[in-house]
Amino acid sequence: MSADEGPIVGIDLGTTNSTVAVFRAGAVEVFESGLGDPLTPSVVAMDKRGGALLVGRTAKDIYAAHPELGAAAFKRGMGSDLSYSIAGAKYSSVELSSMVLKQLKQDAARTLGREASRCVITVPAYFNEAQRFATRKAGEMAGWVVERILNEPTAAAIAHGVHGKGPDGTIVVVDLGGGTFDVCVMDRFEGALMVRSVAGESMLGGEDFTRRLASLALTRAGATYETAEMNDPEGITLLLKRAELAKRKLSEAESVEIVVPPVRRQLDQPVPVTVSREDAEDAFAPLLDRLRGPCRAAMRGAGLNKTDITEVILVGGATRMPCIQRFVRERFDRAPQEGVDPDLAIVHGAAIQAALIADDEGVGDMVVTDVASHSLGTSVVKHYGHKKVDGFFLPIIHRNSVIPTSQSQILSTVEPNQTQMRIDVYEGEARLASHNRKIGELIVKDIPRGAPGQQVEVTFTYDLDGILEVECRIVDTGKTVSKILSRTSTSLSDTEIQAAAKRLAKIKQDPRETPAVRDLIARAELLMREVVSDQRERLEAMLDVLEDALARRDPEAVERAVRDLERFVSFLDDGERW
Ligand code: AMP
Repeated sequence: MSADEGPIVGIDLGTTNSTVAVFRAGAVEVFESGLGDPLTPSVVAMDKRGGALLVGRTAKDIYAAHPELGAAAFKRGMGSDLSYSIAGAKYSSVELSSMVLKQLKQDAARTLGREASRCVITVPAYFNEAQRFATRKAGEMAGWVVERILNEPTAAAIAHGVHGKGPDGTIVVVDLGGGTFDVCVMDRFEGALMVRSVAGESMLGGEDFTRRLASLALTRAGATYETAEMNDPEGITLLLKRAELAKRKLSEAESVEIVVPPVRRQLDQPVPVTVSREDAEDAFAPLLDRLRGPCRAAMRGAGLNKTDITEVILVGGATRMPCIQRFVRERFDRAPQEGVDPDLAIVHGAAIQAALIADDEGVGDMVVTDVASHSLGTSVVKHYGHKKVDGFFLPIIHRNSVIPTSQSQILSTVEPNQTQMRIDVYEGEARLASHNRKIGELIVKDIPRGAPGQQVEVTFTYDLDGILEVECRIVDTGKTVSKILSRTSTSLSDTEIQAAAKRLAKIKQDPRETPAVRDLIARAELLMREVVSDQRERLEAMLDVLEDALARRDPEAVERAVRDLERFVSFLDDGERW
């Protein structure tokens, strides 16, 4: 990094709140908004007097009183055609997010005393490429050079891990924000962070708890929430504001008073009601139930059970609620990690990642890897009896595969004398290719004429920046065509493409090629003839794990399997027995 480019900052672009921070002089510094608050509400609204668009707390207040003058939670619309109306004018998610990002740029510049131009922006791990692309675009529209799109749980784990690199282990990141719930299982292995699986609920967050509390208070006051919502939206807005404050108080206090405002046609005057934490938690029970599914799905996706978990990290303001902390402790049999403010964990991690990109010496040498949030694959023909049915999705890089990665599949021609094959590239999980998102295509020509079944090896290589290289090799002739697809940058320059190709070429190296691995396999195979049966079984199982990791070209898994096997082989070589 040259000195005049300035530092790279980290940005948490949240559904409810956004933050920006920098890592300097060995520590993370969160920038405050002009109002002295580290959190900037992700809300845009029009100032009634001046007609200007405002971002942040003032916008949030305007929006609460006049929903038609503002927009909030537009992160949910990222990557879609949804538009949001502000005083009659329509805005996309990208435009609104870019306004938030512009505001953060100004706040960063004010604190830094100079222009901040480069950043890392975090996104939920489940965001697909369109959503990541939209986020990057929002950053670019705001004048940022977006150096990296980083997964939120990865950022949170970095925030918790980098200051005290613990032993290897498995970390669960539980993120309950204002409007979303995400669970992510990650491995920490020799300083590297690796996402194993993600699951979540995109329509469940702290605000649902606020609404439950508001509804409980309204019932106690002798009215009903649904009727009030219909007849008196302003009354409900005011009640929700009070319930929000009460909910926060209940994180500390055993009971709280909520003054229920008058509600048209139901309550003529304000009614004070007292709600205990226990009552509130009873009202929250159905929401807590809904948290179970994603926890289970993430554990299943990682192939683990709770005894495998070594650390639990809480992210998002709503995890301050005692019932959430209890829930997490019971679910994972562990007390959550402390020390990082749950509201700021993601931005802390983003700032540290930014410093890593800038090669800041202070952050050490933590390596970050990631997973593919969706499967990437192609469309193939299936044979049912004599019938050929086209259009089935064949994943080549599976969802949750560790990236960077490179995976191959052999495809065959289906017609006699077929000399061309079109490789359509899709992202998604649906069985039918057309139900997934098409992200590009590649034509393979000059396949030798002959009977159906001429083979083409298709290799997908995917890197941390979301750049996918598709390479097709005609097995018979060795002729190869390849194409680089980037879905996270509008247009790649030639130099960028060359740089990407260089990086990808490195990833493609088959770990099997290393002489050390070949030698280890040979040693293990030799030993198998000599050892007793239970040791043989154990060796065989370890070799299977290694072979599987090699076939998947998963460098971390290979490393792990090699280490285990090496240890065992050395033991056996030394004549010792386990
Ligand atoms: P985030 O999107 O991470 O900023 O989360 C915001 C959510 O956290 C909102 O629903 C807040 O009501 C909630 N929240 C923040 N602080 C607390 C607290 N002390 N107790 C309970 N909920 C909180």
